[in-house]
Amino acid sequence: MSWYHAGMYDAARPAGSLWEDTAPPLAPGVDLGPAGDTDCDVAIIGGGYTGLSAALHLARDFSLDVRLLEAGPLGWGASGRNGGFCTLPPMALSFAELISRYGEGEARRFIDTQREAISFVRSFAETEAIDIEPQGEGELHVAHAPSRFAELEKEGDLLSRVFGIEAELFRREEVAERFYDSREQFGALLMPLSFGLHPLRLARGLATVAARSGARLHGSSPVTRWEKEGRRHRLVTPSGTIRASRVLVATNGFTRAPMPEALSSRVLPVMSNIVVTRPLTESELAAQNWRTETPCANTRNLLFYYRLLPDRRFLFGARGDTTGTPEDGVRMRRFMERRLREVFPGWADAEITHSWRGFVCMGLRRTPSVGTLAADPSVSFALGYHGNGVAAAPWAGRLAAQLIGGTAKIGDFPAPVRGEPAVIPFPSLRGWYLRAALGYYWLMDR
Ligand SMILES: Cc1cc2nc3c(=O)[nH]c(=O)nc-3n(C[C@H](O)[C@H](O)[C@H](O)COP(=O)(O)OP(=O)(O)OC[C@H]3O[C@@H](n4cnc5c(N)ncnc54)[C@H](O)[C@@H]3O)c2cc1C
Repeated sequence: MSWYHAGMYDAARPAGSLWEDTAPPLAPGVDLGPAGDTDCDVAIIGGGYTGLSAALHLARDFSLDVRLLEAGPLGWGASGRNGGFCTLPPMALSFAELISRYGEGEARRFIDTQREAISFVRSFAETEAIDIEPQGEGELHVAHAPSRFAELEKEGDLLSRVFGIEAELFRREEVAERFYDSREQFGALLMPLSFGLHPLRLARGLATVAARSGARLHGSSPVTRWEKEGRRHRLVTPSGTIRASRVLVATNGFTRAPMPEALSSRVLPVMSNIVVTRPLTESELAAQNWRTETPCANTRNLLFYYRLLPDRRFLFGARGDTTGTPEDGVRMRRFMERRLREVFPGWADAEITHSWRGFVCMGLRRTPSVGTLAADPSVSFALGYHGNGVAAAPWAGRLAAQLIGGTAKIGDFPAPVRGEPAVIPFPSLRGWYLRAALGYYWLMDR
């Protein structure tokens, strides 16, 4: 059950993103289309980064017979429509909270895996010659209010001391001179490692290599029923039934019935929205002294994330909207357009050419979850990247493949990602929890 409008799950509808207009199409034979009746070793539900990476590694590294089922075209979910920030960390905890919850050792192990996750995306694209349009050096965390600068300073110290990540702190004037200026810029912390990319090119690249490795990928194949027949799973789609010994759930923010209750009732899908302008002129860029391709995110609880794209369009994203109705979609677009012009008044005349939205996946433990179900170890899962899955999801898909293939054990995972998502009390009230949280954060940000 989901409290969101049914249209948000209509996989026959394109997302409306700039990426759909600009990514090269998949080569024939990569997306095999609706699945018929068949048997396999592993069935994967969800054709985003997690599912595609798992399919690739299961087929290539373990020679398993893999079928991936995706409700829409491959990459239809968040993977094909995100902001393209390839960054860490995939969590809704501060670094200090991560340490206090798990201790320095486990926190460091987790963050190390996420540094490796970013390198994995970069090296995968390089090795497979996939042009993901990499951009920028690092990610700029921008203080949106003067009081936030001191927090960034503290965070920079912690990153260096505990995680060996050398983030660079810039005062307001330095940011204005070197990166950009705006009404909501009061200094920034430059996190190394991160970069920007074209998300759908990455999703289609993963699909291409997975198919070449022998995985069979079926778009337009929503799983509508899931039953057990002895020890085998029966996944029913409108065009056929797949029988599998193992199943991997890779549905992240789009998880809902018929996925197992231990997953579907424990995820909190949260809407993220993006608007993109037409290409900005040189004089418009100069009006904000904009001179960087580095992705930026500010310190708001309901954060804004933004970056200049290779063709000089400006991408501006924000969380919000708790219903998913078409009317609230229009309201959210208007709100973002207004905020974009308030924060960057020099671009008041830059019209919006694209706007779209989709689900990120939150949960009560506030870190991702990778493992197998306690009630049925033949079902694995990898989800809950808290809005930062561009690097984390391909990594988690590979980890899930190693778990299924037998070369990784759950006990060896860093503690923050080990096992099932935490139980959410009274899950039918999740829509209300979300409204209350968004209202609270909105007030805090003001
Ligand atoms: C607007 C937006 C902006 C974002 N920006 C960033 C960013 O800049 N950086 C970052 O790191 N992360 C970002 N994210 C988050 C990131 O995109 C996700 O964490 C990541 O793509 C998750 O990948 P996934 O494969 O696990 O899930 P998804 O890509 O969401 O794939 C899940 C798939 O499961 C399919 N599915 C669900 N149920 C069924 C079923 N019953 N049968 C068959 N298929 C099913 C869905 O159709 C969907 O395609 C953003 C997300 C959104 C929505």
